[in-house]
Amino acid sequence: MTNPSNMTRRTALAGAAALPLAAATASATRAAAPIMGAGSAPFQRVNLGGFDVTTILAGSRAVPDPQNIFGMNVDADTFNKVSAEAHLPIDQAQFFFTPTVVNTGAELVLFDTGLSAEGTLAALQAAGYSADQVDIVVITHMHGDHIGGLMNGDTPTYPNARYVTGQVEYDAWAKAGNENFDGKVKPLAEQMTFLGDGGSVASGITAMAAFGHTPGHMAYMIESEGKQLAICADFANHYVWSLAHPDWEVKFDMDKAAAAATRKTMLDMLSADGVPFIGYHMPWPAIGYVEKADSAYAYVPHTYQLLL
Ligand SMILES: [Zn+2]
Repeated sequence: MTNPSNMTRRTALAGAAALPLAAATASATRAAAPIMGAGSAPFQRVNLGGFDVTTILAGSRAVPDPQNIFGMNVDADTFNKVSAEAHLPIDQAQFFFTPTVVNTGAELVLFDTGLSAEGTLAALQAAGYSADQVDIVVITHMHGDHIGGLMNGDTPTYPNARYVTGQVEYDAWAKAGNENFDGKVKPLAEQMTFLGDGGSVASGITAMAAFGHTPGHMAYMIESEGKQLAICADFANHYVWSLAHPDWEVKFDMDKAAAAATRKTMLDMLSADGVPFIGYHMPWPAIGYVEKADSAYAYVPHTYQLLL
């Protein structure tokens, strides 16, 4: 018998040729990794001073006919031209749903809860956190893709959390009445505190009114050791169709004029101050910068600035 360490390529090949056909086929199958399609890691953690800031991918899906949602007030030619110049397809768009976890060292704060408890919990776990570690859940606004994971069936998904949301937002949805609000938000109202522009969630986390997308939609400025990052939720929901064209109307903006005005105010602030931001629907991992470009803005994805 040949000593394996002395086996030459020639003898190995000869050996393989002598194997029964079934064994040779099995060996070929083992060597071929399956085609799995597109994929990505479900979390991205960055540093902000003394804080850990982690975006978690609660869900992602392709949506057909994006001009049903973005650029509703421009003609198809304009929409198609802008999209082509940005190398974007026009027949479908990839949507991302990205809650953020901020660990201040004293408290673990979750911003928004995804479409369902399941998707957010899986990403949270992948990022190294468990549901019972979450001290505060902040709800930026009360659309289904942000409040959907508050409850897991009949039980709160985050058993030890208290909740923070905008007063204007809560009041608007409470008054309007809505199945999602009644099922997901109302059961937790007792543990909820409400804030307005400039209100504080925890040390280093400050609310900013960003009304328009919904009546009381809020963004949050995170600050640690002199470094800032803004969690901007849904003030701009596409990195081209909203940033390069902040006046393009978006189906889900409840007050379209107010949403466009807020978009410009916030994009001005982010570009002037060079503050990185997290957008709930920005391309995964949803962290970027804003650059002033011509009469509008451009999205500059985060690369390694916040890893250092
Ligand atoms: Zn949303």
